[in-house]
Amino acid sequence: MRLLTILLALMLALPAVAQEPARLQVGASSVTRQHDGWWQSVFGPQALKLSLALDKPVPYRVFLVGDPARLVVDLKNTDLSGDELSAMFGHEQLHAIRWGSFQRGWSRIVMELPDTYRVSRAGMETQGLFARLNVALWPVSAIDFAPRPSAAAALRNLPDPAQLTDTPIRAEGLVVTLDAGHGGFDPGAQADGVNEADLVLTFAQELRTALGLRGVTVNMTRDKDEFVALEQRMTIARQAGSHVLISLHADALPKGQAAGATVYVWSPSADDRAARQLSQRHERDDLVLGMDFAGQDDALATALMDFARTDTQPRSEGFARMLISRMALGGIGLHGRPVQGAAFSVLKSPDITSVLLELGFISDTNDLANLSDPAWRARMVQAVAEGTIGWWRDEQARGALLRK
Ligand SMILES: [Zn+2]
Repeated sequence: MRLLTILLALMLALPAVAQEPARLQVGASSVTRQHDGWWQSVFGPQALKLSLALDKPVPYRVFLVGDPARLVVDLKNTDLSGDELSAMFGHEQLHAIRWGSFQRGWSRIVMELPDTYRVSRAGMETQGLFARLNVALWPVSAIDFAPRPSAAAALRNLPDPAQLTDTPIRAEGLVVTLDAGHGGFDPGAQADGVNEADLVLTFAQELRTALGLRGVTVNMTRDKDEFVALEQRMTIARQAGSHVLISLHADALPKGQAAGATVYVWSPSADDRAARQLSQRHERDDLVLGMDFAGQDDALATALMDFARTDTQPRSEGFARMLISRMALGGIGLHGRPVQGAAFSVLKSPDITSVLLELGFISDTNDLANLSDPAWRARMVQAVAEGTIGWWRDEQARGALLRK
């Protein structure tokens, strides 16, 4: 049976209000292959999913044009200037991508597809900080491909296709401190003869290489098996002029209580039992040495810190969500609540975007096997590196907009 393209054009009706144009969040956008059936992966092209993140929902339309097969996405009242869609996660799935302003307040994105598809689903949803336009493309034969007939003029007024390469997207100027947890007399959690301290140092060193290849300046709180106090870790990050601190852990919790990657951001009032258990364990190591950092705050210092954190906190939360979304795209198993708050004092810097990443839980058999597997670590390293760079580029774009 001949398949018909039903969803040639879609329009989301929204009240027309004069407002700032929407911005595309390139770092949070993606094109991914969908593995919807083994026969597709063996016999034919796979379904594609396009996910465009915007800072607010906008009216849109989606349609296909032929010769060669292209997907056209029009976004109303959206400013694409300064965006590099060719840097989008998964851009290598496409043959080419171009974008620009189209007409009367519309911007247009044209993606040259690797095969012929139909639009099987399209919809705009609001998701946390983002609005997301999701477009599902289902592969069809060239005969069943039904591009919009009147789309001959679809590609006017657009710049030349961007060069798509496999070179990793770079982030010059970004300074990241990687904090491998524990070390020295403090091995961290232990299971099956493996130490958390050793696992996270190996991961930190691999992540350093991946970030370095992408132009990031990487600084480490420790590069060997030594004890570093929590306060010292923050000082090292600050002295290096870090924009970002990523504290790396792979802790243990009682069997069955936790599995999968989790990203923690600072939250002094987190009452989650597991989070409290973890933070208490981390602080205890410092108490042994008489370095009770938490106890040094007086009321004024706390108030000043909270004030300074009003910028850093949402940034850290956005960074955490970006990391998690890249891990999900990379097929990394996530904790049921992948972004959580906890009172880890290493996250307390008022001026540095800080997250604590539990790569997995050493107490979980599956997580431990993953952490010890170089192939799994390579996927996780890639997810964290790309998430970091995607976040940084979105931050830069936002900063440039604020400076206008
Ligand atoms: Zn730990």
